[in-house]
Amino acid sequence: MIELSEFFSGKALEKARARQSAGEPTAYIIGRAWFYREEYEITRGVLIPRPDTERVVEKLVDILPKGGHFTDLCCGSGCIGISALCERADARAFACDISEQAVALSLRNAKKNGVADRYQAVCADLHTLQIPPTDLVVANPPYIPHAVIAALDRSVRDYEPTLALDGGDDGLDFYRVILDRFQAREGFLFEIGYDQGQAIRALCDERSMSCEITKDYGGNDRVAVIRKR
Ligand code: GLN
Repeated sequence: MIELSEFFSGKALEKARARQSAGEPTAYIIGRAWFYREEYEITRGVLIPRPDTERVVEKLVDILPKGGHFTDLCCGSGCIGISALCERADARAFACDISEQAVALSLRNAKKNGVADRYQAVCADLHTLQIPPTDLVVANPPYIPHAVIAALDRSVRDYEPTLALDGGDDGLDFYRVILDRFQAREGFLFEIGYDQGQAIRALCDERSMSCEITKDYGGNDRVAVIRKR
Protein backbone atom coordinates (compact mmCIF):
# COMPACT_ATOMS: atom_id res chain seq x y z
CA MET A 1 0.00 0.00 0.00
CA ILE A 2 1.41 3.38 -0.99
CA GLU A 3 1.41 5.96 1.81
CA LEU A 4 0.65 9.40 0.38
CA SER A 5 2.64 11.09 3.17
CA GLU A 6 5.80 9.73 1.52
CA PHE A 7 5.05 11.98 -1.44
CA PHE A 8 3.20 14.99 -0.02
CA SER A 9 3.02 17.08 3.12
CA GLY A 10 0.86 19.88 4.50
CA LYS A 11 -1.83 21.26 2.22
CA ALA A 12 -0.68 19.12 -0.72
CA LEU A 13 -1.13 15.99 1.40
CA GLU A 14 -4.67 17.03 2.33
CA LYS A 15 -5.47 17.57 -1.36
CA ALA A 16 -3.94 14.22 -2.32
CA ARG A 17 -5.95 12.42 0.38
CA ALA A 18 -9.14 14.08 -0.85
CA ARG A 19 -8.44 12.89 -4.40
CA GLN A 20 -7.83 9.36 -3.11
CA SER A 21 -11.07 9.39 -1.08
CA ALA A 22 -12.95 10.48 -4.20
CA GLY A 23 -11.74 7.27 -5.87
CA GLU A 24 -8.83 8.50 -8.00
CA PRO A 25 -6.14 5.85 -8.54
CA THR A 26 -2.98 6.51 -6.50
CA ALA A 27 -0.75 6.29 -9.59
CA TYR A 28 -2.35 9.45 -11.02
CA ILE A 29 -2.10 11.28 -7.71
CA ILE A 30 1.60 10.58 -7.19
CA GLY A 31 2.37 10.61 -10.94
CA ARG A 32 4.18 7.32 -10.92
CA ALA A 33 3.76 3.55 -10.92
CA TRP A 34 6.00 0.55 -10.46
CA PHE A 35 5.91 -2.16 -13.09
CA TYR A 36 8.16 -5.18 -13.55
CA ARG A 37 11.51 -3.89 -12.19
CA GLU A 38 11.08 -0.27 -13.20
CA GLU A 39 9.50 2.96 -12.06
CA TYR A 40 7.34 4.84 -14.56
CA GLU A 41 6.04 8.37 -14.77
CA ILE A 42 2.25 8.17 -15.17
CA THR A 43 -0.22 10.89 -16.15
CA ARG A 44 -3.99 11.04 -16.57
CA GLY A 45 -4.66 10.12 -20.19
CA VAL A 46 -2.63 6.89 -20.16
CA LEU A 47 -3.57 3.54 -18.68
CA ILE A 48 -1.91 2.67 -15.38
CA PRO A 49 0.40 -0.36 -15.85
CA ARG A 50 -1.24 -3.57 -14.54
CA PRO A 51 0.60 -6.40 -12.76
CA ASP A 52 -0.98 -8.91 -15.20
CA THR A 53 0.85 -7.15 -18.02
CA GLU A 54 4.19 -8.15 -16.49
CA ARG A 55 3.46 -11.60 -17.95
CA VAL A 56 3.70 -10.04 -21.42
CA VAL A 57 7.15 -8.66 -20.59
CA GLU A 58 8.29 -12.06 -19.29
CA LYS A 59 7.16 -13.70 -22.52
CA LEU A 60 8.74 -11.02 -24.69
CA VAL A 61 12.07 -11.30 -22.86
CA ASP A 62 11.85 -15.06 -23.29
CA ILE A 63 11.02 -15.34 -26.99
CA LEU A 64 12.71 -12.34 -28.62
CA PRO A 65 15.69 -13.61 -30.64
CA LYS A 66 19.18 -12.42 -29.66
CA GLY A 67 19.82 -8.88 -30.91
CA GLY A 68 16.11 -8.74 -31.72
CA HIS A 69 13.93 -5.82 -32.74
CA PHE A 70 10.32 -5.61 -31.60
CA THR A 71 7.41 -3.28 -32.28
CA ASP A 72 5.12 -2.25 -29.42
CA LEU A 73 1.73 -1.15 -30.75
CA CYS A 74 -0.54 0.91 -28.43
CA CYS A 75 2.45 1.52 -26.16
CA GLY A 76 0.73 3.83 -23.64
CA SER A 77 3.23 4.69 -20.89
CA GLY A 78 5.75 2.48 -22.71
CA CYS A 79 5.94 0.01 -19.83
CA ILE A 80 5.99 -3.24 -21.84
CA GLY A 81 8.68 -2.23 -24.30
CA ILE A 82 10.82 -0.31 -21.84
CA SER A 83 10.86 -3.03 -19.16
CA ALA A 84 11.78 -5.57 -21.87
CA LEU A 85 14.63 -3.33 -23.06
CA CYS A 86 15.87 -2.96 -19.47
CA GLU A 87 15.99 -6.75 -19.19
CA ARG A 88 17.47 -7.33 -22.65
CA ALA A 89 20.42 -5.02 -23.36
CA ASP A 90 20.71 -6.56 -26.86
CA ALA A 91 17.18 -5.58 -27.96
CA ARG A 92 15.75 -2.54 -29.80
CA ALA A 93 12.18 -1.30 -29.97
CA PHE A 94 9.87 0.75 -32.15
CA ALA A 95 6.71 1.88 -30.37
CA CYS A 96 3.55 3.68 -31.39
CA ASP A 97 0.35 5.01 -29.88
CA ILE A 98 -2.54 7.06 -31.23
CA SER A 99 -2.21 9.39 -28.24
CA GLU A 100 0.39 12.13 -28.61
CA GLN A 101 0.48 12.39 -24.83
CA ALA A 102 1.26 8.67 -24.47
CA VAL A 103 4.07 8.81 -27.02
CA ALA A 104 5.70 11.79 -25.28
CA LEU A 105 5.32 10.07 -21.89
CA SER A 106 6.80 6.81 -23.19
CA LEU A 107 9.84 8.69 -24.52
CA ARG A 108 10.34 10.30 -21.09
CA ASN A 109 9.99 6.88 -19.47
CA ALA A 110 12.57 5.39 -21.84
CA LYS A 111 14.98 8.15 -20.84
CA LYS A 112 14.19 7.79 -17.13
CA ASN A 113 15.00 4.07 -17.35
CA GLY A 114 18.15 4.49 -19.43
CA VAL A 115 17.02 2.86 -22.70
CA ALA A 116 16.26 5.93 -24.85
CA ASP A 117 19.05 5.06 -27.32
CA ARG A 118 17.24 1.80 -28.19
CA TYR A 119 13.65 3.08 -28.03
CA GLN A 120 11.89 4.90 -30.84
CA ALA A 121 8.25 6.02 -30.58
CA VAL A 122 5.81 7.71 -32.94
CA CYS A 123 2.23 8.91 -32.78
CA ALA A 124 0.21 6.97 -35.35
CA ASP A 125 -3.06 5.23 -36.13
CA LEU A 126 -2.78 1.45 -36.51
CA HIS A 127 -4.98 1.59 -39.61
CA THR A 128 -2.33 3.52 -41.57
CA LEU A 129 0.96 2.99 -39.72
CA GLN A 130 3.87 1.44 -41.63
CA ILE A 131 6.40 -0.28 -39.40
CA PRO A 132 10.09 -1.08 -39.97
CA PRO A 133 10.99 -4.78 -40.44
CA THR A 134 10.67 -6.40 -37.02
CA ASP A 135 11.07 -9.73 -35.27
CA LEU A 136 7.99 -9.50 -33.06
CA VAL A 137 4.87 -7.35 -32.88
CA VAL A 138 3.80 -6.86 -29.27
CA ALA A 139 0.53 -5.24 -28.26
CA ASN A 140 -1.69 -4.63 -25.29
CA PRO A 141 -4.41 -2.92 -27.30
CA PRO A 142 -7.79 -1.74 -26.00
CA TYR A 143 -9.74 -5.00 -25.59
CA ILE A 144 -12.75 -4.36 -23.39
CA PRO A 145 -16.04 -4.92 -25.30
CA HIS A 146 -17.77 -1.58 -25.78
CA ALA A 147 -20.87 -2.56 -23.78
CA VAL A 148 -18.75 -3.61 -20.78
CA ILE A 149 -17.06 -0.22 -20.36
CA ALA A 150 -19.97 1.27 -18.40
CA ALA A 151 -19.82 -1.62 -15.92
CA LEU A 152 -16.09 -1.31 -15.16
CA ASP A 153 -14.91 -0.45 -11.68
CA ARG A 154 -15.47 3.25 -10.98
CA SER A 155 -11.77 3.94 -10.46
CA VAL A 156 -11.12 2.66 -14.00
CA ARG A 157 -14.22 4.02 -15.72
CA ASP A 158 -14.06 7.51 -14.26
CA TYR A 159 -10.31 8.08 -14.39
CA GLU A 160 -8.61 5.96 -17.02
CA PRO A 161 -8.82 6.78 -20.74
CA THR A 162 -11.67 4.99 -22.55
CA LEU A 163 -9.55 5.26 -25.70
CA ALA A 164 -7.11 2.77 -24.14
CA LEU A 165 -9.85 0.34 -23.10
CA ASP A 166 -12.59 0.20 -25.74
CA GLY A 167 -11.96 -2.66 -28.16
CA GLY A 168 -15.21 -2.30 -30.13
CA ASP A 169 -18.35 -4.48 -30.13
CA ASP A 170 -16.63 -7.75 -29.17
CA GLY A 171 -13.40 -6.23 -27.84
CA LEU A 172 -11.38 -7.78 -30.66
CA ASP A 173 -11.22 -4.94 -33.21
CA PHE A 174 -7.54 -4.15 -32.62
CA TYR A 175 -6.39 -7.77 -32.77
CA ARG A 176 -8.04 -8.12 -36.19
CA VAL A 177 -6.41 -4.97 -37.55
CA ILE A 178 -3.00 -5.93 -36.17
CA LEU A 179 -3.10 -9.51 -37.50
CA ASP A 180 -4.29 -8.35 -40.91
CA ARG A 181 -2.03 -5.31 -41.38
CA PHE A 182 1.31 -6.23 -39.83
CA GLN A 183 4.02 -8.80 -40.30
CA ALA A 184 6.81 -9.93 -38.01
CA ARG A 185 9.40 -12.65 -38.52
CA GLU A 186 8.59 -14.39 -35.21
CA GLY A 187 4.91 -13.49 -34.98
CA PHE A 188 2.71 -11.62 -32.52
CA LEU A 189 2.55 -11.34 -28.75
CA PHE A 190 -0.71 -9.99 -27.32
CA GLU A 191 -2.16 -9.30 -23.94
CA ILE A 192 -5.76 -10.52 -24.03
CA GLY A 193 -8.80 -10.28 -21.76
CA TYR A 194 -9.29 -13.03 -19.17
CA ASP A 195 -12.24 -14.44 -21.16
CA GLN A 196 -10.92 -13.95 -24.71
CA GLY A 197 -8.80 -17.11 -25.14
CA GLN A 198 -11.38 -18.95 -27.27
CA ALA A 199 -12.16 -15.90 -29.39
CA ILE A 200 -8.47 -15.24 -30.11
CA ARG A 201 -7.97 -18.88 -31.09
CA ALA A 202 -10.87 -18.52 -33.51
CA LEU A 203 -9.34 -15.38 -35.07
CA CYS A 204 -6.09 -17.29 -35.54
CA ASP A 205 -7.83 -20.33 -37.04
CA GLU A 206 -9.56 -18.10 -39.60
CA ARG A 207 -6.11 -16.84 -40.64
CA SER A 208 -4.38 -20.25 -40.48
CA MET A 209 -2.15 -19.02 -37.67
CA SER A 210 -1.12 -20.91 -34.54
CA CYS A 211 -1.97 -19.58 -31.10
CA GLU A 212 -0.40 -20.45 -27.76
CA ILE A 213 -2.04 -18.98 -24.67
CA THR A 214 -0.41 -18.45 -21.26
CA LYS A 215 -2.27 -17.67 -18.06
CA ASP A 216 -1.64 -14.85 -15.61
CA TYR A 217 -0.93 -15.48 -11.92
CA GLY A 218 -4.66 -15.26 -11.24
CA GLY A 219 -5.11 -18.36 -13.42
CA ASN A 220 -6.81 -16.48 -16.29
CA ASP A 221 -5.88 -16.52 -19.97
CA ARG A 222 -3.73 -13.42 -20.47
CA VAL A 223 -0.98 -13.74 -23.07
CA ALA A 224 -1.23 -15.04 -26.64
CA VAL A 225 1.71 -15.91 -28.89
CA ILE A 226 0.57 -16.12 -32.49
CA ARG A 227 2.57 -17.41 -35.40
CA LYS A 228 2.14 -18.21 -39.07
CA ARG A 229 1.59 -21.94 -39.48
N1 GLN B 1 -6.62 -4.94 -18.20
C1 GLN B 1 -7.23 -3.66 -18.41
C2 GLN B 1 -8.44 -3.52 -17.49
O1 GLN B 1 -8.94 -4.49 -16.98
C3 GLN B 1 -7.63 -3.48 -19.84
C4 GLN B 1 -6.45 -3.25 -20.68
C5 GLN B 1 -6.77 -3.15 -22.13
O2 GLN B 1 -7.90 -2.94 -22.60
N2 GLN B 1 -5.74 -3.32 -22.85
O3 GLN B 1 -8.89 -2.42 -17.24
